[in-house]
Amino acid sequence: MKKVVVVGSINMDLVTVCNKAPLGGETLFGKEFFQVPGGKGANQAVAIAKLGTEVTMLGKVGNDSFGQELIKAMEKDGVKVEHIEYANTATGIANIIVEENGQNRILVVPGANGYVDKAYIDRHLDVIKNSDILVVQLEIPLETVEYALSKAKEFGKMTILNPAPAVKLSDDIIKKSDIIIPNESELGVITGLEVDTKEHIQKAAKKLLEMNVKNLIVTLGSSGSLHVNKDTEEFHSAYKVKAIDTTAAGDSFIGGFIRAYSEDNIGEAIEFATKVSAIVVTRRGAQTSIPTIEEVENFKG
Ligand code: ADP
Repeated sequence: MKKVVVVGSINMDLVTVCNKAPLGGETLFGKEFFQVPGGKGANQAVAIAKLGTEVTMLGKVGNDSFGQELIKAMEKDGVKVEHIEYANTATGIANIIVEENGQNRILVVPGANGYVDKAYIDRHLDVIKNSDILVVQLEIPLETVEYALSKAKEFGKMTILNPAPAVKLSDDIIKKSDIIIPNESELGVITGLEVDTKEHIQKAAKKLLEMNVKNLIVTLGSSGSLHVNKDTEEFHSAYKVKAIDTTAAGDSFIGGFIRAYSEDNIGEAIEFATKVSAIVVTRRGAQTSIPTIEEVENFKG
């Protein structure tokens, strides 16, 4: 059974639903408020655990009630949380204002996530050493992402990079990532190319491949995904489902992909991931919307 380590962000999402977001200097009543566990790192760890793969989370929360709550939520879903540290600052949060017309405004305050540094990775190197796969995103300092990837490659591990939120990436980060999984807009930022048509996406994907990426999987929302490597260029269709909330679609895709992955069956792993994320978009929430393996097996599309 493979073991996974996720090095990444842990956030509390503070969601306010309102008719209209206030302008500067204005005070309005909102309609609803809820707080839900989030952060791309934590979401992906929960997806991996709920789908039945052993996963350890490496990251930091603040020494506050959000931090304790987030650790408890991950633990309840089966993530190994004993290496998460408390930083002497606030837990990371995302302030999300959702207008009824569906438009979101999001302010992320990284807090403790910003303190996930090289020294922290060094204190927990054994976790990377004892895992088979390292998964990283870009909600912690970039130099820590690069360092974790370097260590994983030194130990001969498989590495997966979800380059979100997207920034221009160094050649070093790209070289050390065995599989890169961006969505289409992230692919645009990484390559600096247009991604508005299927042809443009293919062109941008090829450019990234030329930068020494072994496997690239671009997720395309309701259009599915595109897998490219030196021998393959293959589109995978999404399921036609009634999507009500696409939060964590990409995070659950990664969880599903890892569950089904082995080196010679990337296509099958993508098919499984596509199923998992199809279920997720039919449910509200992030970590709560991720199905169990039984639910995926019973899904008929
Ligand atoms: P992200 O959440 O990172 O932006 P995407 O929106 O590309 O990622 O979604 C990831 C995957 O989730 C897609 O490749 C697809 O398989 C699935 N998915 C997303 N939106 C839908 C949808 N509306 N209907 C069916 N599947 C979807």
